[in-house]
Amino acid sequence: MTATYLDEDWLLVPKLAPSTTDDPLTPLYAGAAAGALVLPFCLACDLPLELEQRVCDGCATAGPVWRQVEPRGSVHSVTVVHRLEPGLIRTTEPYPVADVELHSGHRLVLGPLHPTKTAPAIGDPVTIGFRRLGAVALPAFAPSETEDSP
Ligand SMILES: [Zn+2]
Repeated sequence: MTATYLDEDWLLVPKLAPSTTDDPLTPLYAGAAAGALVLPFCLACDLPLELEQRVCDGCATAGPVWRQVEPRGSVHSVTVVHRLEPGLIRTTEPYPVADVELHSGHRLVLGPLHPTKTAPAIGDPVTIGFRRLGAVALPAFAPSETEDSP
C-alpha cells in the first residue's frame, strides 16, 4: 500500500479547503503558499484591517493593500473545541482555537499548527506557521520557542 497521507492535514478533511481563486482572501493564500503571512492594511492610513474588511474604520477609504507581516503575536483569548464533527474533523481529541493578536495589529482566529490538547495561556507568545489542507496553506499558531521581545 502506498502511503499518501503525509500531505494530509491532521485536523480538517481536504474538502474544507477554501477556494483560492476569485476570493477576497487570495493574497493571504498566495502568501501562505510561499510561507509568508500576508494581511490587509488600509491603503490610505495603513490601519490593519480585518480579513474581509472593505472600508477602513479610521479614514473610510475603501480598498486594502496586502503585505507581509511578522508571523508573531500573543494569545488574546483561547477556547478548546470538544465538538469533533464526523467527516469534517480528523482528530479524535479536543483541540484549542486561539484568537491571536499579531504584532502587526491584526487579529486572527487560528487552530494549532501541530496536534495538541493543551491550550496556550492568554498572553502566551505564539508564532504563525502554515498547515496544508488539500492544495491550500492555512495559517495556524504554535507556541513560541522563546519569549517575545519588542
Ligand atoms: Zn484608513
